[in-house]
Amino acid sequence: MKISLNPHAKDAATRDALVAEGGFGKYYTDHMVVCEWNEKDGWSEPDLKPYGPISLDPATAVFHYGQEIFEGMKAYRQPDGGIGLFRPEANARRFAKSAKRLALPEMPEELFIETVETLVKQDAGWVPNKVGESLYIRPFMFATEVGLGVRPSNKALYMLIATPAGAYFDPSKAVSVWISTEYVRAAQGGTGEAKCGGNYAASLVAQKAAAKEGCDQVVWIDAKERKWIEEMGGMNLYFVKGSGAEATVVTPKLTGTLLPGITRDSILSVAKDLGYKTDEVMLSIDDWRDGVASGEITEIFACGTAAVVSPVGTAKSAMGTWVTGDGQPGKITMQIRNHLLGIQHGSISDSHSWMRKVI
Ligand SMILES: *Cc1c(COP(=O)(O)O)cnc(C)c1O
Repeated sequence: MKISLNPHAKDAATRDALVAEGGFGKYYTDHMVVCEWNEKDGWSEPDLKPYGPISLDPATAVFHYGQEIFEGMKAYRQPDGGIGLFRPEANARRFAKSAKRLALPEMPEELFIETVETLVKQDAGWVPNKVGESLYIRPFMFATEVGLGVRPSNKALYMLIATPAGAYFDPSKAVSVWISTEYVRAAQGGTGEAKCGGNYAASLVAQKAAAKEGCDQVVWIDAKERKWIEEMGGMNLYFVKGSGAEATVVTPKLTGTLLPGITRDSILSVAKDLGYKTDEVMLSIDDWRDGVASGEITEIFACGTAAVVSPVGTAKSAMGTWVTGDGQPGKITMQIRNHLLGIQHGSISDSHSWMRKVI
């Protein structure tokens, strides 16, 4: 790895003040990593360098045909002052899968992790100290061949940036969702399983429609039968059926159109560890409505790296509006959230060896 340090890196006091502001995505750390790929030579040696703008030819492929993928992962401060990454190997594997689907080069897992570790070590001072806070890490890659011909790019650029993430969980506010029967996020054979910018570009109009309905987020249903619940915005969904020790924690099955969330996967294990039954299911809009009406569905939450776990309250759709819970996060939702955060922050035993120590 080539290292060129930022001569204008923020001094500790300035940096600490920015980190203390909380928020998300407003400030970026002093450095970034870039790594070039071309068909002939493969991957170059990655470069850690000062964070800053990049220059690209206007005819660069990504601007025209959207050949781009990304990841989202976090580094957490540990009780001994060190820093741990949560399941970075899982992000590396998913990044390679997304690359394959978008006809981009698959970055070797070790190279991906090396870039992440190097940036986190260098910018360690940007990792917040409080529980619920973290350093959000954004690896991404895009097509850099210059030309307007439509073909898989013979050049690509991998980049890595990081931003401190405050504790933006508000336990008094459950998310309201608009179940979209008009727009579709992903169809069989499409790019739903890949973490690519294009999926998000196509989703924004539905997000707008949700806001117009007075909802915070959009919930996607399947493209074919237009009835099976898939995901919420950029997060996976969980439903708690029943309550207490007898509760079952279920999540929509990965049918090939859902994004296989690492948080989703981790919660399947955490819920089992906590003694709950778990299941991956096909759950329809009707099942949601009827389950809420009968009281079988007691809690609903969304999960993903950025927010970890967010309670879902009101669901609105063309077929009506149903409210789960009293607007407060459910007991099992909070138990799962606290357990996962505990593992991430090193206060609960990491029985699945999910944490990777950086320093
Ligand atoms: C990233 C993402 C998720 C959540 O995945 P995590 O690995 O848990 O962060 C869920 N759905 C979509 C569409 C995503 O892009």
